[in-house]
Amino acid sequence: MPSFNPNEQSQPNSQSIYESTSKIKNMSRQTVIKIGVDALNEVGSDLICKVCIMNGGSCCNGCLHLTNGIGCKKRNTSCTAWLCGFLKYLFYATGSLKDWEDFWRQVPGQDYREDFTPEFFFVEKPLHMQNIRNLSEALATDLHELATKHIAIGFILTLREKIDKNIDRLNHCKNDPKKRIKIERNIKVLSSPFHRFQKELREYHHLNNSHT
Ligand code: SF4
Ligand code: SF4
Repeated sequence: MPSFNPNEQSQPNSQSIYESTSKIKNMSRQTVIKIGVDALNEVGSDLICKVCIMNGGSCCNGCLHLTNGIGCKKRNTSCTAWLCGFLKYLFYATGSLKDWEDFWRQVPGQDYREDFTPEFFFVEKPLHMQNIRNLSEALATDLHELATKHIAIGFILTLREKIDKNIDRLNHCKNDPKKRIKIERNIKVLSSPFHRFQKELREYHHLNNSHT
C-alpha cells in the first residue's frame, strides 16, 4: 500500500513548529503538489483520464495554461486537489475520499485553475492512499466500453457529472440518514454499468475486511 506521508516528504530544511513528537510539519507548495500528483499516478488516474480525454471530457479544456504536446504549464494545488466525478467515485467506492479531502483541506489558497497557496505552510494529516490501480484499470475499461456502446455523444461525461453531483450532495447531508440512503442508492444505480469495476471492488473489500 503506497503511503504518502508528509513526515517523509517534507523539505529537508523543513522545521516542525512543535516538539519532534508533533505531527505538524512545515511543507512546501511544491512538495504538496508532488504528493498529490504521485498519489494520482499511483492509483492509476491516468488510465481513466485517457478514456475521458478520448471522449472529449478533459477538465483542462480551454485552460490558458494548457499547451499542446506539453500539457499543463502551471500545475497548482487547486487542480491537483480537485476530483472529477470519475475520480471522486473511485475514491468514494474504495473508502479513500475522506482521506483525500482531509489532506487537501489543510492546503490554503486554492482557487479555480490557479492557487494563492503560500510557498510554505503547516500540514498535520498525511495522505494515505490504497493500492487501487487495478480498480482504475477496470473502471477505465468499463468507461471505454460504455462510450463505444452508447450512441449518445458524451454519455460517459453525463454520467460523470451525475455521479459527481450525488457524491457532493452526500457530503452536504451528513446528519440526515434518510437522505443519505437515497443518495447512496442513486450512486449505486449510476455506477451499476461499471461491471468490471464492481467485480474488482467486491474483491477489494473482501481482501480489506479479511485483513482487519
Ligand atoms: S475530467 Fe477527470 S477523468 Fe477527465 S481528464 Fe479530468 S481528471 Fe481526468
Ligand atoms: S491549470 Fe489546471 S485546468 Fe489548467 S491546464 Fe493546468 S491542470 Fe489543467
